[in-house]
Amino acid sequence: MQPIQTLSSKLPRVGTTIFTVMSKLAADVGALNLSQGFPSFPADPALLDLVTKALRANHNQYAPMAGVPVLREAIAQKTADVYGINYNPDTEITITSGATEALYAAITAVVQPGDEVIVFEPAYDSYVPAIELAGGIPVYITLTPPDYAIDWTQVAEQMTERTRLILVNTPHNPTGRVWTRDDLDQLADLIGDRDIFVIADEVYEHITFDRRPHVSLMQHPVLQERTFVVGSFGKTFHVTGWKIGYCLAPADLTVEFRKIHQFLTFSVSTPMQYALAEYLQQPERYLELPAFYQQKRDLFLQAIAGSRFRYVPTEGTFFQNVSYEAITDEPDYDLAIRLTKEIGVASIPVSVFYDQKNDYKILRFCFAKDDDTLLRAGERLVKWTNL
Ligand code: PMP
Ligand code: GLN
Repeated sequence: MQPIQTLSSKLPRVGTTIFTVMSKLAADVGALNLSQGFPSFPADPALLDLVTKALRANHNQYAPMAGVPVLREAIAQKTADVYGINYNPDTEITITSGATEALYAAITAVVQPGDEVIVFEPAYDSYVPAIELAGGIPVYITLTPPDYAIDWTQVAEQMTERTRLILVNTPHNPTGRVWTRDDLDQLADLIGDRDIFVIADEVYEHITFDRRPHVSLMQHPVLQERTFVVGSFGKTFHVTGWKIGYCLAPADLTVEFRKIHQFLTFSVSTPMQYALAEYLQQPERYLELPAFYQQKRDLFLQAIAGSRFRYVPTEGTFFQNVSYEAITDEPDYDLAIRLTKEIGVASIPVSVFYDQKNDYKILRFCFAKDDDTLLRAGERLVKWTNL
């Protein structure tokens, strides 16, 4: 039967995300899944007990639209402790359905049709569709391996009267690069007193290595007053399936942010919020994360040390990128699929994070996996590169 009307797509270029594609393929062929970014190990039983406690305490009805007050207060406390910045839990902190919702709501709150948004690529895959649905125009700054350094003169050249928003992600998925204070200064100098907002995707805030600090955009006064800082408990507490994140933004920005949030989801799972609020009372839970993941990064690097891959140890996140340029000139997408099927190790081809699918022959491996999986994956990869 013919449809009565043809639905014209608002996102004609968008298909199924690479994360879904690769995780499904890994499951179908029984491969070790180092593609999608999620831990293969369980969350802390103490956190799970807190959820049970909240469920039994009958915290099972709608949470307030902005989030349960104890969680907003706990986030305010953590933010003050870690970064020395105070956000008002009533007017400047909103709990969201993962960072994904926070990013979408912030982009929707800021971007008007025809506005230009600066996006550094490779870029996490949810940014551009949200910009386009709001009628915005992504303006790409293309960063390239091995160091993905930002050419600030080029950024200045790309800024126009219509630039309304700049999207920053540090620590960065997929490259693992971590912004420095100098990067913040450069960005603030460029923005000056122009009417430009910033979204800082800082979901990997607690995962940095080799004593490198995460510098939050909130720590720069010029940036703080115009920035939506986005976080996620999924990354920090090994519970990506909970989809609980948050947005920190000055009160005037938060007013507009919440107008969108209340009609996207209204509010977020109540018992999980209570559990997280209590769990946050123990700062060591997130302070131990750099050492925890550094051990995993180093184990994976050791496991592939005998391979012909080229790489620099990742600065942050739970992703390690490797170049296979010296081994084959196959497209990265094809190679990621082939390795999943042939040697049983799934990865993410980094070209998918570029608008024009630039292929620099790089694969991204997620090392948020149990040690045995990392060792077995390393062994298979070494064997393949040395065939
Ligand atoms: N931003 C980045 C850079 C991410 O890597 C992810 C997910 N891995 C998200 C946002 C989305 O986070 P959430 O699962 O909390 O929605
Ligand atoms: N952010 C995760 C990654 O980069 C995936 C999240 C998702 O599947 N949407 O692998």
